[in-house]
Amino acid sequence: MYMSQPPRPRTSSTIPPILQQTSRLDSSDNPEIMSCEEEENVVIVVQEKGVIFKNGWRVPLIRLRFNDVCDDGSRVILGSGLNLHDVLVDAVVGVLDALYTPDTAPDNVRSVTLIIRNMDGVAYTTGMDIDDDHKEIHFSTEYIAGVHERSKGKQDKQEILGVIRHEMVHCFQYNAFGGANGGLIEGIADWVRYKAGFRPPHWHRGEGDQWDNGYERTAYFLLWLEEQYGPETVPRINGWMKKRRYSDKLFIDLFNEKPEELFKRYKKWCEEHSEEEVCGADQDSPAGEKEDPSEPSSPKNEEENNEDNNSYVEVSNPSPEDWQVSEAKLVARDRLNKLAYDGTGSFKRFINSFEGLIEVLDPKMSEKERRLLLVTALQGNPLTWLDNIDPDDELEYPEIKTILEANTSVSYKS
Ligand SMILES: [Zn+2]
Repeated sequence: MYMSQPPRPRTSSTIPPILQQTSRLDSSDNPEIMSCEEEENVVIVVQEKGVIFKNGWRVPLIRLRFNDVCDDGSRVILGSGLNLHDVLVDAVVGVLDALYTPDTAPDNVRSVTLIIRNMDGVAYTTGMDIDDDHKEIHFSTEYIAGVHERSKGKQDKQEILGVIRHEMVHCFQYNAFGGANGGLIEGIADWVRYKAGFRPPHWHRGEGDQWDNGYERTAYFLLWLEEQYGPETVPRINGWMKKRRYSDKLFIDLFNEKPEELFKRYKKWCEEHSEEEVCGADQDSPAGEKEDPSEPSSPKNEEENNEDNNSYVEVSNPSPEDWQVSEAKLVARDRLNKLAYDGTGSFKRFINSFEGLIEVLDPKMSEKERRLLLVTALQGNPLTWLDNIDPDDELEYPEIKTILEANTSVSYKS
């Protein structure tokens, strides 16, 4: 599927039209200040020279795209009763609030586009090919239609809010220059989701056998760490990854203990404390509950208010490992689609990225498929050169790679 289309050339014509128009609001020399009551919190929205600040947080350009509004999943989202403007703005503010202070929040994210489309998996987040500071969240209509069917509509809101909050974390979190432990990255995303109150019914504390199993398994471990080391724990973990290459030394630096040892203590603590005891306390103070008036009642309240709650069975919910692999593969596929080599940069860097992505996508990929992907990624001089020396597509993948490597070091040395 990912080989069906050659990479698009990086020209201005591939920039979505809406991106080409950079002023989204009427600029005003004087900041326009609006405030409104949102439960007991006063929300301050400041518009300054076209940039929106909400409660001091800079909100980048947010865009929304439905690939097909008639798709079952699109109709679930459109019919959910959620105000998507509020959901998206609250997701940005909620993520920044959970991980940063206004002084430490990253300001590189220029736009976030939520793309609701038919695809496999649940969702993934990636940068656009023109600029990684423009983020894209891809959300599967097939997945949300499935949730709707299995839960008879009862989990729609919670899942939409939860998936968007999780993916929004990926737009703003640090990842040690892309080399962070994947389980930790996914754990932080679900930790933010949990704190916002968007916990699905199948999540349970104490599951997993390694600290970096990812998703909610690592999120519960992070919640425990937070209990032990204070509310700044996860922001500190995230902050550590801003300017460092990843290693488990992170945990020694911050907690003076290896993650495996911390995890052992966490598991022991889980055995000694029942989940009801802990979750009862959690329900009282999820950070996001107060900020989102469109949020549905918590799972606990739903149980109390809804006798039919037990009818929700997440029958085909993939295990966290499957989700993790799935999300990582979706991202790898997206990046491979966007990866191109036109001879102007370092071939070594290109081929390292290329093979790294294949390793994530499918380590057992045949050489025939690798060859096709490599040729598809070539543009300009390297492609012309390959056409000349191998007009009948006879060279194998390793040969093309070796010859290309030798040739580029002479002809395209950067
Ligand atoms: Zn994720």
